[in-house]
Amino acid sequence: MTEPVEPDFDVIVIGAGIAGCVTAYQLAQQGRSVLLVERGEEPGSKNLSGGVLYSRGMEQVFPDFLTEAPVERRITRNYINFINGDSSVAVDYRDARLAEPVNAVTVLRAKLDPWLAAKCEEAGALIMPGVRVDRVLTEGTRVVGVQAGDDELRAHVVVAADGVNSFIAQDVGLRKKPPQHHLAVGVKAVVSLPRKTIEDRFTLTGDEGAAVAAVGDCTEGVGGGGFLYTNIDSLSIGIVVRLDDLTAKKKVVTDIFDHFLEHRFIAPYLEGGEMLEYGCHLVAEGGLDMVGDIVMDGMVVVGDAAGLTLNTGLTVRGMDLAVGSAVAAAEAVGAALDQKNTSRATLAAYREKLFASYVGKDMETYAKAPHFLETDRMYKEYGELLADVLYGAFNHDLKPREHLVKVARGSLAHSPLKIMQLVKDGIAGARAL
Ligand SMILES: Cc1cc2nc3c(=O)[nH]c(=O)nc-3n(C[C@H](O)[C@H](O)[C@H](O)COP(=O)(O)OP(=O)(O)OC[C@H]3O[C@@H](n4cnc5c(N)ncnc54)[C@H](O)[C@@H]3O)c2cc1C
Repeated sequence: MTEPVEPDFDVIVIGAGIAGCVTAYQLAQQGRSVLLVERGEEPGSKNLSGGVLYSRGMEQVFPDFLTEAPVERRITRNYINFINGDSSVAVDYRDARLAEPVNAVTVLRAKLDPWLAAKCEEAGALIMPGVRVDRVLTEGTRVVGVQAGDDELRAHVVVAADGVNSFIAQDVGLRKKPPQHHLAVGVKAVVSLPRKTIEDRFTLTGDEGAAVAAVGDCTEGVGGGGFLYTNIDSLSIGIVVRLDDLTAKKKVVTDIFDHFLEHRFIAPYLEGGEMLEYGCHLVAEGGLDMVGDIVMDGMVVVGDAAGLTLNTGLTVRGMDLAVGSAVAAAEAVGAALDQKNTSRATLAAYREKLFASYVGKDMETYAKAPHFLETDRMYKEYGELLADVLYGAFNHDLKPREHLVKVARGSLAHSPLKIMQLVKDGIAGARAL
């Protein structure tokens, strides 16, 4: 395999999100010359995330991450809420074990990404913000650099970390345009509130944090869910809804978001707050099916660009998978540079490392989750059924009481759900999640 003649850099990384920054940081730490190109005016300015980061992977890269990085709160309370129009049923899971060792933290990308980029610079990477890579340069089957405007820059390896759409990976034929059912659209706002108000409303102390996940009427029955996460003195609130379902139901995503903000079970958390940020972003939802070819001669694809996100209904993950893919990519790219062979065959070690790590293993474990989460009933009928059963148990209307099983049977008889669907969904859920 012919190597590019006198490249400008060992590695050019496209995109200074989490995947790009963590890859660039590790390669710079290995002593490689690294250029990190970001189209936003500064890293993080174009990025949007719900904000719960499962932080163990990040701590492997930055051992002092929790004390040094701009993290907000440590999540010790997970509140999973089936929301209907007038009722809601929740599982309120609190656990001190989630605090030590820390499991997940809330982050704001507008703070985290600049911190990561600063770490890359400290390690010796060169950052070029405000520059959009238009395409990669190729010679035969090999990627040899990038073109941004009139500038052409060459490298032994290009890392595509350009997010969910990855026009770069599409451009070189590694990925096809994702089908609609592999995509969701997210809308998110950050609402400022005094620290004490947040702690009182979510019954938190110190740096404890809460993550509320909601399904049902919060998305007006469209497949997806809502979230509400606590930061130090703000809340991150948003919805993520399936693009195909949104189109099929002819709904407008910002209307659904307004409905969520005004929902009787959500609005009280936000009362008195001031909106600081508002944005929309696509989310990769295809799971393992979305991860196609991620390696070619002279190039690897990491993070969302590689389709690495996981929605299990209980947890939404993308940032920690971006970190894991960056770790695998940096190891494989470093080894290929040492061997002076950055061919597809050598860089294939990236895919092997990825699938040997928590990233690939979790993608495989939850391979059936995207299909299961397409079950329409979960976004309306199940929440209503749960509330109906509990209403039967709690509503003392002076009629003779009935055992819970009988109450549940009665509720099911009045629900559009059929027992066979319950059984089928139960089995599918057990297999998928
Ligand atoms: C509403 C919403 C809620 C979410 N909630 C969570 C959550 O709670 N927890 C979680 O773990 N994940 C969550 N995710 C997913 C998570 O945000 C992503 O998985 C994560 O941001 C992926 O990081 P990345 O670095 O791969 O991509 P990105 O963060 O998208 O970074 C890509 C970068 O590439 C740059 N770029 C793109 N094209 C070019 C180009 N041509 N030239 C130069 N630069 C370019 C972009 O500007 C950007 O900075 C959520 C996503 C959304 C939208």
